[in-house]
Amino acid sequence: MAETIGEAVPVPSPEPRRERARTGLRICYVLPVYNEAEGIRGFHRALLAATGTRPEFDYEFIYVNDGSADRSLVILRELAIADPRVRVLDFARNFGHQIAITAGLDYAEGDAVIVMDTDLQDPPEVSLELIDAWRGGAEIVSARRRSRQDTRFKRLTAHTYYRLLHTWAEVDIPTDTGDFRLFDRRAAEELRGFRERSRFIRGMVASMGFQHTEVLFDRDERAAGETKYPLQQMVRLAADGVTGFSTAPLKLITRVGFVSLALAAIGIMYAVAMRLLWPSITVSGWTMLMVVMLFLGGVQMLSLGVIGSYIGRIYHEVQQRPLYIVRREIRHDQD
Ligand code: UDP
Ligand code: MG
Repeated sequence: MAETIGEAVPVPSPEPRRERARTGLRICYVLPVYNEAEGIRGFHRALLAATGTRPEFDYEFIYVNDGSADRSLVILRELAIADPRVRVLDFARNFGHQIAITAGLDYAEGDAVIVMDTDLQDPPEVSLELIDAWRGGAEIVSARRRSRQDTRFKRLTAHTYYRLLHTWAEVDIPTDTGDFRLFDRRAAEELRGFRERSRFIRGMVASMGFQHTEVLFDRDERAAGETKYPLQQMVRLAADGVTGFSTAPLKLITRVGFVSLALAAIGIMYAVAMRLLWPSITVSGWTMLMVVMLFLGGVQMLSLGVIGSYIGRIYHEVQQRPLYIVRREIRHDQD
């Protein structure tokens, strides 16, 4: 099922297998692994079973071992020895999911690159639907969760967060969409240009543009082991999403500054009026105290907002994101 964002992208109906000739196209999977020893073999088997039904493509499987402390690397090495299509990037330590994906994308050489989790929560068959949508003309295809089998807490926090982000972010980040996604070669190349340290890949994807389509899927439970995203990391990713793609918090400070300065002005007038009109009931020293306190409070808030907006600009500069993206260059001497 393909649902389209923006311009319509026709998705071809699957043809019978025997009619498919080899396309010469290479599809590269980027697969982050962190302590998945229990489930990784099962995952690889499922992935081979799915991709085996589409022999018209060449495949490359890039596993990124993100500093696993279990036997994941040993198993991945075995997979690589058994199959030349498997490559393993072994990180020197745990750098986190978003960085693992980034490294995989840097090394991937394919006409299309598919990023997916290795715990079978992103079903390998769905990646074939991503490929169909890509063949139909889409340059980025995201897998969007129709449902998810996770704890009630995770579902609730994710649901609320995606909606908040959608409202605040300066780019259109689709709801209920993680990092399970296909990139056309051009889109993957452009994504490599985003080198910021605090990474929120969905936001970068949204800010790139390109022809974007979605495929709906039901997210399964983890096949083995437990989540490698403890609450602390989830909060960090959530904060990276907001601060990386929204300056709403900075603008909020400025707004609060203006409001508190306005309130301070009213308070000051009130205090001065009390002193002048009813000097007998005003405690001595109260007026001065109120005037100074309210004025300083308002001025401080506003100054923070101003400083914040400059920091916001500096922040955007140090991110060094690409300023524009040229999809292709057309010249008269080309066909
Ligand atoms: N992962 C990783 N590095 C980490 C944490 C997770 O490479 O520091 C991998 C993990 O092996 C899995 C994917 O990222 O393939 C998603 O992690 P997980 O399933 O734990 O996240 P959840 O699905 O619970 O959000
Ligand atoms: Mg998972």
